[in-house]
Amino acid sequence: MAADPTADIAELAPWQRRLRAQFPIILAHPELAYLDSAATAQKPQAVLDAVQSYLITSNANAGRGSYPWANTTTALLDRTRDRIKEFLGDPQPDRSSVHFTSGATEGLRTIARDWLAEPGLLSDGDEIIVPFTDHQANLSPWWEARELLARQGVRIRVRELPCQSGSGDYDAAALAAMAGPRTRFVAATHVHHVYGADMNVHRIREAVGPDVPIALDAAQSVGHLPVSVARLDVDFVVFSGHKAMALPGTGAVWARGQRGPVFRPGGWSGTPNTVGIASLAAALDWLDAAGTERIERWTVALTSRLTDGLDRMPAYEVLGCRSSLAAESEVQRRRSIVTFRHREIGAQDLGFILFSHGFMVRSDGHCQAGARDKEGSVRVSLHVHNTPEEMEELLTTLANLE
Ligand code: PLP
Repeated sequence: MAADPTADIAELAPWQRRLRAQFPIILAHPELAYLDSAATAQKPQAVLDAVQSYLITSNANAGRGSYPWANTTTALLDRTRDRIKEFLGDPQPDRSSVHFTSGATEGLRTIARDWLAEPGLLSDGDEIIVPFTDHQANLSPWWEARELLARQGVRIRVRELPCQSGSGDYDAAALAAMAGPRTRFVAATHVHHVYGADMNVHRIREAVGPDVPIALDAAQSVGHLPVSVARLDVDFVVFSGHKAMALPGTGAVWARGQRGPVFRPGGWSGTPNTVGIASLAAALDWLDAAGTERIERWTVALTSRLTDGLDRMPAYEVLGCRSSLAAESEVQRRRSIVTFRHREIGAQDLGFILFSHGFMVRSDGHCQAGARDKEGSVRVSLHVHNTPEEMEELLTTLANLE
């Protein structure tokens, strides 16, 4: 059953007003609409408070001193790893499945360098299947792994995860046809950063069978919708803290450790980002209390309104899946991102015009791998502080440019 966006907006409005009031930067600028949460999310007061509280009560290095501030910081790191496991629905008690990183990019590179390219996993002639039209962060690490393996004398083949034209969704049938005994790894994305679609990763598991490790880039889903590793049959989940309302320079890799060798990120990485990790723990607490299921319903209802409005304006072309909800299809649902082009006004110009009306959007190629979209496009990406009024005003502004 498709959700009813109007009913969701009516039901969730009082809850949303309470949450919006917790974003100081949003309240300070009523004349602006922040529509770039896919690039980085704004921070609620609770996260700002946690940062300040950590710095004025217990700032120290972790895992070194034995005095109380140092112990508090060490405990903060352990507690946050547990918190990440809990947030991702990992029922296993062992916290070694969580590794801090500086963001999704570093998370994916770490999997590539310290797991995929480690001697022993892949042999000459093996193949890996990776997305060529997702974020660059989920493509270049796998080419880097290929180079590292080549230096060890192991030649692997990097193949393109097939996509359907138009919707941008992965093509599970084509994947099933190309996957074979030499397929040793697949990388995919949970929610596409341009098309805003849930990429239905469970279909990838069905297509490649039970034994192939899958790494999932969840940069655009963690913090936006419930993400459960118990339900997603994948081996790695990677996310950025700053897109989930924590400070920049934070993120994590969650590793299942059941297919292939155990993931042990190598090397001495020095002092951890303790204050960032404090912000991440607070952000996950805030998101859980807000309810990721409600955040998802709210943002899906708003993007549904926006997509439907754009679809009625011939001057605009919405990229990716056309329908906003799963009314006629189980295949995809648009999440909190809508990307579009004006048929005559260039993306950069449209971005400037929109900012002159107070809308902060992203207008470029969105770091999409393959640089297929040379013209660029405008991306509107939402979070829980966005409102139906902002969507209506944006649609009115866009209609005036038709
Ligand atoms: N993956 C996706 C889908 C993204 O949208 C982004 C950032 O926009 C990244 C990875 C990279 O994240 P970060 O720059 O935080 O490492």
